[in-house]
Amino acid sequence: MRTAIHPRLYDPAPDDPVLNCGQCARCGRVYFPPIGIGCENCGAPAESLVPRALPTAGVVFAVAEVNVNTQGTKPFSVAEVVLAAGPLIRAVVHPASPPLHIGDQARARWHVVKRNDAGADLVEPAFIKSASAFGDSR
Ligand SMILES: [Zn+2]
Repeated sequence: MRTAIHPRLYDPAPDDPVLNCGQCARCGRVYFPPIGIGCENCGAPAESLVPRALPTAGVVFAVAEVNVNTQGTKPFSVAEVVLAAGPLIRAVVHPASPPLHIGDQARARWHVVKRNDAGADLVEPAFIKSASAFGDSR
């Protein structure tokens, strides 16, 4: 069983992560995380922002390695990915992913951060390199 670390941001039930976003019914702009105010692009009121499922496929915009952190965890990488639907999101790079580079195609997979006392996996989306549409194997 999976449990979301941040339940407002994603639903842990599907096999692959899908994010909870809001989309403006007037201009189509996608907001992640979902916002409770109106659309900052076209001025539509908050009621115009419709909850939607946001696929996580996108292109790597930036990558950073984190070698020192306050939780005492092993070094890890963080990536910013521009999703096909528009938003730029930041998440850890999945431990099973080959190194990500700017311009790589990536999508999110569940990353088990820890298991709670009830035996549920506490998960968050993490980026993993996906096959490029152009066959670039970098
Ligand atoms: Zn709008």
